[in-house]
Amino acid sequence: MSTRARKEDFPVLQTKDVAYLDTAASSLTPRVVIDAMNRYYEHFPVNVHRGVYELGYEATEAYETARDRVARFLHAKREEIVFTKGASHGLNIVAHGLAKTLSPGDEIMVSELEHHSNYLPWVEAAKTSGATLTFVPLNDRGEITEEAFLKTLTPNTKIIALTYVSNTMGTITPLEKLIPHARNVGATIVIDAAQAVPHMAVDVGQLDVDFLAFSGHKMCGPTGIGVLYGKEARLNALAPFEFGGEMNDYVSKTSVSYKDAPYRFETGTPPIAEALGLHAAIDYLESITYSRISAHEKALRDYTMERLKTIPGIIIYNPHAPTGIIQFNLENVHPHDAVTAFDQHKVAVRAGHHCAQMVMHWLNVPATLRASFYLYNDYQDCDRFIDSVKAAQDFFTGVGF
Ligand code: PMP
Repeated sequence: MSTRARKEDFPVLQTKDVAYLDTAASSLTPRVVIDAMNRYYEHFPVNVHRGVYELGYEATEAYETARDRVARFLHAKREEIVFTKGASHGLNIVAHGLAKTLSPGDEIMVSELEHHSNYLPWVEAAKTSGATLTFVPLNDRGEITEEAFLKTLTPNTKIIALTYVSNTMGTITPLEKLIPHARNVGATIVIDAAQAVPHMAVDVGQLDVDFLAFSGHKMCGPTGIGVLYGKEARLNALAPFEFGGEMNDYVSKTSVSYKDAPYRFETGTPPIAEALGLHAAIDYLESITYSRISAHEKALRDYTMERLKTIPGIIIYNPHAPTGIIQFNLENVHPHDAVTAFDQHKVAVRAGHHCAQMVMHWLNVPATLRASFYLYNDYQDCDRFIDSVKAAQDFFTGVGF
């Protein structure tokens, strides 16, 4: 499908005229996902794992079938799939649990590429345990290289918490090269895959990660649901993060015990409709195939980059990124002014620090603009984006082209 966008699958695109280039924040929702969530509310809108009646069985079966689907998607076991609120929630669960295993002198390796969701939980883990944060340096393209990784890795590195795909630089961390080195020092590997899973096939077994987290809402799924993958033994060794109904085995006035994974991390009523929506989103993406999705994104990115390069006054921070993210600024135009002008042309692009302030410090800018492509974008969206860039330059600097 390298040139066919899937606009007709997305109800919002039938009613709203917009070049939506903010998938890295949240993707649009296809009809099949909305229908899957409606199926829950129309046919068995009751709680799971509780009601001993037909509706309860149907809800539980649909919810647990979604877990099986995610397990198959990641090449994992169902016991290794925890439904969470999103990537941030999953990363907090892991950092909170692993913090209890750390002591002063231990090191947690992160990078300046990290989204705050894969940094602040580790800042807190370091604070509570006395461990030290170390930073793998980036090369001038904003990439984590094997050489830099090896220089940062020490026998004291206990946790390596890295992004798979950066939400700002669009770079891909070469995990397959790094992880074997991490295994040599016995470090635990935690991967923030929020920007990877929507765009590329991820096989957790082949990568040999210990934990990996992502969100539904960036991969055509609903908001309010994400997945934490963990190796079964690692999840069961992790202290629970939240406490309450359904995560416990036995409760009395004198003792309590908790269930095994995944349920020990799923207290309260889970996101049931959202799990069905995520199931449908995975079916949808896999029916198109990841190779076609990434070829399509790359084609749109290449086309847009070629055109952007011909316009003076544009700073592109990630010209070599292999993914569908373009991070840029317009000279002498504040990014928040620029997006307001883009919006007038019905172009949705993100401005700000993108919850990655360390990247802004590394680039030495307060904020940037980010355009990100997905399977529903087409060349008209790219053209409209380029026109809006020119119009913003014209309006704010008086140098129209
Ligand atoms: N990590 C990365 C790389 C992200 O891009 C995001 C979302 N912007 C997150 C984590 C957090 O995801 P969520 O808000 O769904 O928890």
